[in-house]
Amino acid sequence: MNKIVIDEIRVFENRLECFYSVSGDWEKYFIAPYTFIVEYSKSIDKVPPSVAIIPFLCNILPVVWIFDAEVILEDIDKDFYDSIEEFKQGFINMYPQLSFKGKITPSKITENTQEDSYKTAAFFSGGVDSFDTLITHIDEAPILMTLWGADIPFEDQVGWNLVDNYIGSLANDKNLDYVSIKTPIRRFLDEAGLSEYVVKGSGNNWWYGFQHGIGVIGHATPYAYQYKVKTIYIASSFTEEDRSTCASDPSIDNFVRFCGSRIIHDGFEYSRQDKVNRISEYVKRTGTPLHLRVCWESEGGSNCCHCEKCHLTILCLLAGKNDPREYGFNYKNDELAGMMKDFRMEIHFTHPSCNILYHIIQKELHKNYAINEVDKSLKWYYKMDIEKELSAQKRVMYRFIRKAKKLLGNYID
Ligand SMILES: [Zn+2]
Repeated sequence: MNKIVIDEIRVFENRLECFYSVSGDWEKYFIAPYTFIVEYSKSIDKVPPSVAIIPFLCNILPVVWIFDAEVILEDIDKDFYDSIEEFKQGFINMYPQLSFKGKITPSKITENTQEDSYKTAAFFSGGVDSFDTLITHIDEAPILMTLWGADIPFEDQVGWNLVDNYIGSLANDKNLDYVSIKTPIRRFLDEAGLSEYVVKGSGNNWWYGFQHGIGVIGHATPYAYQYKVKTIYIASSFTEEDRSTCASDPSIDNFVRFCGSRIIHDGFEYSRQDKVNRISEYVKRTGTPLHLRVCWESEGGSNCCHCEKCHLTILCLLAGKNDPREYGFNYKNDELAGMMKDFRMEIHFTHPSCNILYHIIQKELHKNYAINEVDKSLKWYYKMDIEKELSAQKRVMYRFIRKAKKLLGNYID
């Protein structure tokens, strides 16, 4: 039988430490030493073990379910314990070809009641989704939370410093509290091995399809308990129309509860183009410039302007009649044509759910520009028949061009 025993939970000052033992065939998916240590930039010294265990539990529950394992622990928050079956159902519905079993066996269940509070918090990276959530709830003065260890590895200290300073100064400007959380979220499990195990039945890798939503959310709990935060927003990446199987989904996130607090999967009603438009309306209305940070390709936390995420956001900004250079994308005029040419190649390799967004962006372009007004580097997009462009033959052709480019390097363009 696969089993995990929580041996000890320690909390002191701004740090929580979880020590555990694993037994059974699934042990190979856990990376030694069997500890899970999380550091907050603020003190969490009043957090009881029944709450301090939640970040770890949120990150192992999908593994527990897939491998029909048992978790043995001393104490668990009642709200969280009661919500587990509810958010597990989101995974069951999402991946009907997999079976989600396993059980949690606590020695006791503790009710952690909170005084009434209206405080809110929001996970914030500086990208389009989280900026949209921030401006939606700006009147609530949400506490900004960000994780170090999810997209930025511990080794990239320079990149982290830039991100940390960027969010810190934004929080300062907007008069918001900010907490950063250093976590081993991507270091304690064998992600590659788990991906291999589930990819056939789910079509997803482990991080994207099983861990990243719930795993990130769990980190809010100790902080929310100590500072009496009632609602925590996590920004959506998709909408009902382009929804695809992904561990951050309203059917999962919205069912996570703890200590009388809850999670809201925010902005699900808005497409990426809607969000970009909302952000630019906010900038125009308030007269305060915003620098988006959408890129994870470049070390150092700035937008590279050469990856698909940068290209897509630049396109959305242009479609909405905005100058991307006022939103943190630094490129020269004569570079745009090349960037959009690369984007044309990239759209052939994206997930089919992106097609819906491509249509939305094209509609926005048609709404805001006549054909003779649109920049010549965007004309192909303006005129393209999306279905034809993304047809199987074209995909094969682009795959061929990409291979040829790789082989011949700079000789063809
Ligand atoms: Zn980029």
